[in-house]
Amino acid sequence: MNYIAASNRYDTMKYNRCGRSGLKLPAISLGLWHNFGSADVFDNSRSILLHAFDNGVTHFDLANNYGPEPGSAEETLGRVLKKDLGVYRDELVISSKAGYLMWDGPYGEWGSKKNLMASLNQSLKRMGLDYVDIFYHHRPDPETPLEETMGALDLMVRQGKALYVGLSNYTAEQTQKAESILRELGTPCLIHQPRYHIFERWVEGGLLDVLDKRGIGCIPFSPLAQGLLTDRYLKEIPEDSRMAKGHFLKESMLTDVKRKAIFELNELAQQRGQSLAQMAIAWLLSHNTVTSVLVGASSTNQLSNNLAALNNLEFSAKELEQIERISKP
Ligand code: NDP
Repeated sequence: MNYIAASNRYDTMKYNRCGRSGLKLPAISLGLWHNFGSADVFDNSRSILLHAFDNGVTHFDLANNYGPEPGSAEETLGRVLKKDLGVYRDELVISSKAGYLMWDGPYGEWGSKKNLMASLNQSLKRMGLDYVDIFYHHRPDPETPLEETMGALDLMVRQGKALYVGLSNYTAEQTQKAESILRELGTPCLIHQPRYHIFERWVEGGLLDVLDKRGIGCIPFSPLAQGLLTDRYLKEIPEDSRMAKGHFLKESMLTDVKRKAIFELNELAQQRGQSLAQMAIAWLLSHNTVTSVLVGASSTNQLSNNLAALNNLEFSAKELEQIERISKP
């Protein structure tokens, strides 16, 4: 059956301005790192994407290497665009990235102009798009001059293949330098994508200040610590969970200290009338610099649960103190 988007899709989502740009992003965005590859069930991936869009999630985040197989998450999105969402292209913000290993030889990763331009062209082909809305450099390259990498991002915008550009995993200092180069080139840095959640606070040591001062948006990835900050691992390690698959979320990450913290945070979330996942998302959104929280989901139920975080975004000073105490034992 032909898909028709829900007519009430913009009724409940909140949209936040991204830094000092003209672009607004949904408070909750969807990432396609896991659960959208050729190894996953297409119908489930499609349902999650359509459910997201029906609930006002206008932003989908990808990268060249998302899968598995690398590249196949972009192909999955391409199929869903062709079948269902393509007619809504102007209502969507689609991002991709390059920087991690994608193909053999000296041009398949890092930050050369050669790598970035080729990778974007490949991504556009896989998704069947003329342009992405945001293109990121995925990780800093210690060897390529920053001028070259930023020059490539600027060129993509001038070629009309990307509307905006962003940085991911850059330190505060690297971000400052990159932002200055981009500004001089005339292509502002729209957004930064760092790992940030209740258990991972490196961005609080300077990066958030840089983003604030320079008017750059912030979209934290893995906001649920890949599932640790949910009820997924409260009792056991479910067979169908990311931890059971064991590639990126390892059992060794669920230490006794972490398990205790997860239980305490879960109790606090319940007192707030929320799931732990909802509290983890709301906590990130309580930071002014955070534009959007980039969640992952393996089912439409998980996504619905995450979206309901928007029903309670307020924290008392005491609750915030408790989160600090529990997460920094
Ligand atoms: P999360 O921290 O949101 O983890 C998502 C996982 O948590 C899901 O796959 C699911 O695990 C579990 N989960 C989600 N919601 C619930 C819920 N309500 N209840 C119970 N369990 C839940 O994010 P990701 O690590 O997936 O990252 C999100 C996105 O961030 C990526 O898709 C990607 O776009 C981006 N990213 C960017 C990186 C970068 O370097 N720039 C690096 C990593 C991610 P399960 O599968 O076990 O059900």
